[in-house]
Amino acid sequence: MSLIEELVASGRHRLLIGGEWRDASDGAEITVLDPATAEPITAVPSGSVADGLAAVDAAAEAAPAWADTPPRERAEILRAAFEALVDRADAFAELIVREMGKALREAKAEVLYAAEFFRWFSGEAVRNLGSIATAPAGDKRIISIHQPVGVSLLVTPWNFPAAMATRKIGPAIAAGCTMILKPASDTPLTALAIGALLEEVGVPPGVVNVVPTSRSGEVVGAMLDDPRVRKLSFTGSTEVGKLLLEKAARHVVNCSMELGGNAPFVVFEDADLDAAVEGAMVAKMRNGGQSCIAANRIYVHAAVADAFADRFAAAMAATRVGVGLDPSTELGPLINLQAAEGIAELVDQTASHGAQVRVGGRRPDRPGFFFEPTVLTDVRPDDPILATEIFGPVAPIVTFETEEEAIDLANGTLWGLAAYVYTGDLARGLRVAEAIEAGMVGINRGLISDPAAPFGGVKESGLGREGAHEGLMEFLETKYIAASW
Ligand code: NAP
Ligand code: MG
Repeated sequence: MSLIEELVASGRHRLLIGGEWRDASDGAEITVLDPATAEPITAVPSGSVADGLAAVDAAAEAAPAWADTPPRERAEILRAAFEALVDRADAFAELIVREMGKALREAKAEVLYAAEFFRWFSGEAVRNLGSIATAPAGDKRIISIHQPVGVSLLVTPWNFPAAMATRKIGPAIAAGCTMILKPASDTPLTALAIGALLEEVGVPPGVVNVVPTSRSGEVVGAMLDDPRVRKLSFTGSTEVGKLLLEKAARHVVNCSMELGGNAPFVVFEDADLDAAVEGAMVAKMRNGGQSCIAANRIYVHAAVADAFADRFAAAMAATRVGVGLDPSTELGPLINLQAAEGIAELVDQTASHGAQVRVGGRRPDRPGFFFEPTVLTDVRPDDPILATEIFGPVAPIVTFETEEEAIDLANGTLWGLAAYVYTGDLARGLRVAEAIEAGMVGINRGLISDPAAPFGGVKESGLGREGAHEGLMEFLETKYIAASW
């Protein structure tokens, strides 16, 4: 039995509220599509405002006892969740492929990455460290402690449906917060499967509630209007993030925002070109380019631009496109029709401005939401594609002449999530990494994500960090106690 069949057979494909699996209060449903075929897989309930508020009730009721649970107990639950998810990695990977489309090997990697957040925060759960100091005037002690921020609303995107959820659930559990997870409506099943797994490893009722909905604006808005919700942890687009920051202002809700990106990938003339091509393939093509840290703008020094473009175009052309469940597939479909059509339009537009389509450029003639791996050269530095989060397998290449110009180009955007630099000169790599306005920089590597590292952006890419010790702190409030004795 597949994990989807298992969930449906046991009724755990429904809303998880206060330890009960239920239908939506008004019977509404979301049809989940397979992006590789555009065919429906199954339907899940679509939470109403009443369901969202019922989940807040459940989380608020469970909060005091959960905050009082010994950290060691929460750590052990997270450790059990890590082991359970690793044990079931194949089943989860298949589920992710079905509803999200990515290639099986990538789905498997995502599940293991997702599980690592449980393992990491299992360790962090017992490291909620405070401090004590003597005040400079000597009149008192300054004691700082960290307490759970409270009922937390976790809103996640479809591109990494497991990892984006565990990157929030892990620290929330570690900190002693109760939560409502609102997954993307394209990928509710992975979130529900994680809810079921957490129930199995002993998370008490009401601590983790899962409410998929296709009425996201309305339902999230109603939850943020409830003053019992004290935390919003959001991963998604900058556009929606800004809307939610405004809504969160009403009750001054603590916000962590992981928003969009527009990562530059800079290749200097002294770089190892084979390594740069390999890194660009990872940074561009992980998840078919549907990643917030995807290389979006490839800047190559004029002296090596042709050589880089030739090798990179060859690697892109050799990418095996197919349905995600085929183990030989390297690139699956995009998430939905809108995404595939939007990218086709963007490529046509860029070509009409004079860019050369070196490889790909079209939607292949097959069912589902596919787009060919695409390389564009001769892209003008001011082309609109460079100011757009492409979110697909399309790589625009721009040339530059000097280090200063490369830095200016890299920084010429409102986003600031990730950046990549390839150079044989580590001093230059570090100098450029410091000058680039981004929350994360990869030097001579295309893969930067790690649960032990602080993930997040500057400028319009967000607020706060996930993973590392910082990720735990996002779910804690600091209390200062002034004491004399
Ligand atoms: P999105 O449209 O912003 O959606 C993200 C989440 O917000 C989904 O759960 C979505 O639900 C919900 N949502 C949409 N409109 C809402 C509203 N008006 N009020 C409340 N919630 C709302 O983003 P996406 O298209 O799913 O994901 C792609 C974006 O996420 C990209 O910009 C990417 O860069 C970003 N991302 C960032 C990171 C990071 O760590 N910085 C990681 C991954 C992705 P529905 O599905 O129902 O619309
Ligand atoms: Mg969306």
